[in-house]
Amino acid sequence: MVERIEKQQEAAPAGQRAPLPLPPLPGDAAGALAPPPAAAAAAANGAAAPFLAAAQQEIKQGRIEAAMQAVRRGLTALPTDPQLALYYGVLFLRAEKYQEAREWCARATVSVPAWPQAWKYLGFAEYAADRTDDAVRSWRKSLALAPDAEVQKALERAERELAAEANHEQLSSSHFTLRFEGRQVPPEFRRTLLEELERHYQRLERELGISLREPVPVILYTERAFQQVTQAPSWAAAVNDGRVRIGIQGLSAISSEFSSTLIHEMTHSFVWAKTHGRCPRWLDEGVAQFFEGRSAKGDSRLMQLWREGKRVPLKALEGSFGELGPVLASVAYWQSLAAVQFLTERWGLFDVVRLLDRLAAGTAPEAALRAVYQLDYAGLEEGLSQSLAR
Ligand SMILES: [Zn+2]
Repeated sequence: MVERIEKQQEAAPAGQRAPLPLPPLPGDAAGALAPPPAAAAAAANGAAAPFLAAAQQEIKQGRIEAAMQAVRRGLTALPTDPQLALYYGVLFLRAEKYQEAREWCARATVSVPAWPQAWKYLGFAEYAADRTDDAVRSWRKSLALAPDAEVQKALERAERELAAEANHEQLSSSHFTLRFEGRQVPPEFRRTLLEELERHYQRLERELGISLREPVPVILYTERAFQQVTQAPSWAAAVNDGRVRIGIQGLSAISSEFSSTLIHEMTHSFVWAKTHGRCPRWLDEGVAQFFEGRSAKGDSRLMQLWREGKRVPLKALEGSFGELGPVLASVAYWQSLAAVQFLTERWGLFDVVRLLDRLAAGTAPEAALRAVYQLDYAGLEEGLSQSLAR
């Protein structure tokens, strides 16, 4: 194992796109949706139960589309049923279709205003749709009706974010909502910054063959506020939890380093959308650095460690790098880049895109590698070694 690396990697690349901070959604092992208050439940007469049961059965098998169909059949028969409306909203939330999620959860709050669960999930839909103000209002209503630890935690987080953004201005383009403190970003750079983001967007859209459904919020914080909001490890410069959050020290020009951070984080959003969140970490970080334009061959120190056999197996890099600490994390990032660089140099980006498609279909990482490249992890590591020996 690697024990120590003298020089810290400069500007450690940031983490992969993390899931939105949602609670386990009903239909997961955690259980079913809590029913509405007694009076509303009596009015509904239990007629929705068979449709809800059918939907939950589908969810247990991981078939979200079929679950939505079951609920749609229910809504055709019982168009005003609040439980079906809320469950439909929750399914849209799972499918990451946040506008629809908001609409359906809101219907449930309108028909049963005293149902804490309806306000809870409306709040999560609003938060996911980048409407933090509305989410805070909904969660407060939910908590006024019944205590709920998940809602409490989400509310506190949202309030921290709102406080950190209290003095932020907002500027939008087709695919981005940029938020920043006025004195952080001089007026002449604001448009340029959005143009830079749009340029990255177009490149990723073209090369990865997918577009994003909703505008991506990009939020610039002072470094202090960044730490308070993200509670990220101190070596991270940016995080992407559905919103791209970047800590900066004032911006007087768009440096190439800053532009790299932008495309790195955007890549995570695209990979997330492309694979429905099923990309192993090494591939995600490798692709993000590939789009930054980094080369693994630029770091002779880390290349030497690989040659000496001081490696972290790629298999061990499928999950989060968060626990690795800064030293091993820099090894992990380098290996991720080296692996993707090897794959793209030998077979082109197109096959990496096919690999992402396999993952999207639910294939496990090593099986997907085998399907696209006829390589398992050992074969990939061997190929990588040979390419570095040249
Ligand atoms: Zn990253």
